[in-house]
Amino acid sequence: MTEPAVLPKDPCADFASAEGRAHFARSLDCVHCGLCLPVCPTYQLTGNEASSPRGRIYMMRAVADGRISAEPGSTYDNELHFCLVCRACETVCPSGVQMEALVEHARCEMNKKTGPPSRARRFLLRTVLPDRKWLRRAADATAIYSKTPIGKILRKLGIVDWLFPGATAREALMPHVPKREHRRDLPALLPPVGEKRGRVAFQEGCVASQLLQDINEATVRVLTRNGWEVSLWKNPSCCGALHAHAGDLEFARELAKKNIEEFEKTKADFFILNSAGCGSHIKNYARLLEVETGWLHRAKEIAAKTRDIGEFLVETGYKPRNGPRALRVAYDEPCHLVHGQRVSAQPKQLLQSIPGLQLVPLAGATDCCGAAGLYSLERTTDSMAILDGKMQQIRASGCEVLATGNPGCILQYRLGARRAGMNLQIMHPIQLLDEG
Ligand code: SF4
Ligand code: SF4
Repeated sequence: MTEPAVLPKDPCADFASAEGRAHFARSLDCVHCGLCLPVCPTYQLTGNEASSPRGRIYMMRAVADGRISAEPGSTYDNELHFCLVCRACETVCPSGVQMEALVEHARCEMNKKTGPPSRARRFLLRTVLPDRKWLRRAADATAIYSKTPIGKILRKLGIVDWLFPGATAREALMPHVPKREHRRDLPALLPPVGEKRGRVAFQEGCVASQLLQDINEATVRVLTRNGWEVSLWKNPSCCGALHAHAGDLEFARELAKKNIEEFEKTKADFFILNSAGCGSHIKNYARLLEVETGWLHRAKEIAAKTRDIGEFLVETGYKPRNGPRALRVAYDEPCHLVHGQRVSAQPKQLLQSIPGLQLVPLAGATDCCGAAGLYSLERTTDSMAILDGKMQQIRASGCEVLATGNPGCILQYRLGARRAGMNLQIMHPIQLLDEG
């Protein structure tokens, strides 16, 4: 990827325009072999060609050629948003089709036609997610709403649905918000235990900083115990993956640039993520910033230093856990780790190194859980259909603990366990390796 001489001004130029042809060209790699159909969760649900990777690419070309309508509410619009961007099709595709890039770009185009997003969506994506202060306020408000009578009153008065249309119908999806003392920010710099091996940067993440801070604490404990000094920044608190998937490429680029600047200030040797979705997106910053003058080489540099925590520990070596964990554990592979980053063996290797832990096989371990960023909120019925199928496979594995390395998947499986009435712990592999 070289710095382009002529830069497109529009981050999501129409496929039919001269600027958009570069993005459209990615779809031409598809040779219609159909190998991607059996692995696509939406094709598995409907059996319709239009819901398959090949069908979506075919429609993108038809839109570019003016053969079908790309209007909001069209079949094309529906299939574009039905896609989970799980990237399972990319793993099996012999032609190297980049489905994620195609869908993000096509959604960006579609957003221009549908007009400004709803108040709630814009507020969530552009105000709450990138800012730790707003994330804390949102978590506080969710806790008050779900744990006190105030929620009931606001619901009855219709204020909740006026502010966030359709919110009350999705209350069952609401995650448990830990008490404030369990979601405190980590210090900006954490010293290593014993001899220093180097410095790593770590990002707590937007959703994880409020709902899964125990996983972040376990991650920095393992890093410091292994001799790494850990440097963190608070804002932006988000990598921009959710924005890119929603087609807000303009804001995703802003977040990418700010994160690159913050990372460079830390002077760290590596950038460590415990979230598969964030790691995959940051490794793709070069694709996002390929048209921005002066940013491509900086994007490539951060990508080259970015590692998933499991990938990093296996690559650099780590102290094995001392105490045993006599548990039957199944490992579910997050889409953006196995398909997005091609990291599969390392997390299992970590788990197998834990004394007493029995790793049990899990059918469909590389299939999507249906969380997919905002997908579970916006296409709840489809998301739950996928999740319920996964819960049956998890039950059949006979595991006591399900280990998986992505915040969205962890929250989705906790919801799935509640729906299925299962007594199942959902943990990040790093929590099992951590000695607390
Ligand atoms: S990204 Fe996932 S849901 Fe979308 S077309 Fe590919 S396999 Fe299907
Ligand atoms: S596997 Fe790749 S080349 Fe084959 S139909 Fe799917 S997207 Fe096209």
